Amino acid sequence: MKIPDIQLNDKSTIPQIGLGLWQVKDNAQFVTGFEGAIKAGYRHFDSAQIYQNEAMLGEGWQASGVKRDELFLTTKIWIDNFGRKQAPKSFEESLGKLQTDYVDLLLIHFPVTILRKKAWLALEEIQAAGGAKSIGVSNYTIRHLEEMKKYAKVMPAVNQVELHVFLQQPELVKYCREHDIVIEAYSPLAHAKAMDNTAIAGIADKHGKTYAQIMLRWCVEQGFVVLPKSVTPSRIKENIDIFDFQLDDEDMQAIATQDQNLRTAWSPVHVP
Ligand code: NAP
Repeated sequence: MKIPDIQLNDKSTIPQIGLGLWQVKDNAQFVTGFEGAIKAGYRHFDSAQIYQNEAMLGEGWQASGVKRDELFLTTKIWIDNFGRKQAPKSFEESLGKLQTDYVDLLLIHFPVTILRKKAWLALEEIQAAGGAKSIGVSNYTIRHLEEMKKYAKVMPAVNQVELHVFLQQPELVKYCREHDIVIEAYSPLAHAKAMDNTAIAGIADKHGKTYAQIMLRWCVEQGFVVLPKSVTPSRIKENIDIFDFQLDDEDMQAIATQDQNLRTAWSPVHVP
């Protein structure tokens, strides 16, 4: 099965689905999930300094036999490392753990007030030096992105935000489309906290697909990169098996009415 690539504003491309790695700290669980993902066709992995699994990802890809240039590795600079000296230093440590000399995508994890500017300037330098093919942000609102126009030499290639059928964020989606910033939808299954919606279940029945597959396909149809997390091989496979069907207009209209502004992770909305 061919996984679509999405074009980024810096001319790189990103596979449209990646395996989420938040809360995967147990090594045995990591190995089971990673091996299941490689077998199922995932080549894109979403890690972060704070997830404490960069080293497991490094071990995992080295053992997999997959060539580095066939993989897409993301990590994120944690908020304690946002200083101009600390950001590159912590990034060097991340590269060591990941057993590579570059990442495909490096993100600022959260828009911490004032410090986010310093962190972004550090990311621009890391990219210029070849440490990261693409750079982007995470949890940025329109306000945080607008502010970047004042200081950024490079605008972010992606904005990784919580986005799913129950948190549709239409204004942010519109803004990112207009500014050529690809949205990465995190917690696309709403952290499995809302798996009982009758409209989604009905659409799943209609297509002979699962509830989770409808949630993920909705993200794909809108051109988002989607980052489902699972440590269960059968679900990992199920979650990537979403490129052989399409939602129709009726499905999309029904899903549009399911937005509940449901946040399951942290919210950047009130960060000045
Ligand atoms: P998620 O992917 O929305 O949901 C994960 C939960 O759904 C797990 O409990 C998982 O269980 C379950 N699940 C997975 N596939 C399923 C299926 N097919 N059917 C039923 N249940 C299923 O949640 P998430 O981990 O919050 O988000 C995904 C990724 O986004 C993270 O891992 C991380 O990479 C990224 N993220 C980024 C940020 C940020 O601030 N940048 C914040 C949150 C998340 P099992 O694992 O037990 O199978």
